[in-house]
Amino acid sequence: MFELDELAQLEAIRAHPLVRSRMLTEIDGLPIWELSIGAEDETVPTLGLYAGIHGNERIGSQVLLAWLEHTLNCLAWDRSLQERLKKMRIVSIPLINVTGLRNGTRCTSKGVDLMRNAPVEAIKPYVWPLAGQKLSRHLPWYRGQSLAPESQALIDSVMQAHEKASFMMAMDLHSGFGQHDSLWFPYAAHRMPPPHLAEAVALCDLFNTNFPLHDFYHIEPQSINYTTHGDLWDYLYDHANQKRGVLFLPYTLEMGSWLWLRKNPRQFFQRFGLFHPMLPHRLRRVLRQHWTILDFLMRATSDYDQWLPEKQARLSLHQAGIERWYRG
Ligand SMILES: [Zn+2]
Repeated sequence: MFELDELAQLEAIRAHPLVRSRMLTEIDGLPIWELSIGAEDETVPTLGLYAGIHGNERIGSQVLLAWLEHTLNCLAWDRSLQERLKKMRIVSIPLINVTGLRNGTRCTSKGVDLMRNAPVEAIKPYVWPLAGQKLSRHLPWYRGQSLAPESQALIDSVMQAHEKASFMMAMDLHSGFGQHDSLWFPYAAHRMPPPHLAEAVALCDLFNTNFPLHDFYHIEPQSINYTTHGDLWDYLYDHANQKRGVLFLPYTLEMGSWLWLRKNPRQFFQRFGLFHPMLPHRLRRVLRQHWTILDFLMRATSDYDQWLPEKQARLSLHQAGIERWYRG
């Protein structure tokens, strides 16, 4: 058993009486746990929270675990939260790439980059090998020759959560790209807008109007930044759309670690320094900084019928999304 704080923290959360957990699979003797909080009824609105797809981006798991702890602590007394979680549920996998986390690597112990591993082909233009490559596991962004067990566990868990839910949103926490924090929605594989562009605009505007001082997130389609093969959220999003008429809106939080590097260049030479805030005060700030967006997603999931656009509004919101993100 590897001695990382995140696994001990996960075990403490798993022991909480209001948390249900199940082991999805085990890799090299390391368990991948799925946690559920809130209603046991699987037809309620569902928020999926995921982290640790890239083993060296530990801060994502740490932010998620800290927020889960905070939410469980509040559940002991906060009646409005207790009521909210009676009518929705949270399903979470905080540590997905357990061997990568143990080894301090982005990829799994088999060399696979899980975010290039889904059966999705990018549409040109894309940049090789960043978009994913099948040449060698010894080069970065290796796609693998088949679906990795970690990807399979995530896909099975998300599909099962979506199976009966009346509505589902998801957020997957990462760190590493850029100097600012981004919230990305599909697609990663190409520059075409997703079928739910109207909903992406509605949620973006809802957040920015309600939390104007949290305007540090760049909310946009991932493909504005770069396109890749094998994005798990592209795959799950398309699958959900083909299978059922029930909405599934996945987001990726990409915490901009280049800012931490710029402010503390010495961490360039530290083991997790490229993807992790190393100075204690900055770590604490990053750990608390994203609780607002996580709280917001929980509220937006339980009360989704209050903000989802109606048929007529969808057309103008879709057009607004095209103007905002897809011109030029
Ligand atoms: Zn990542």
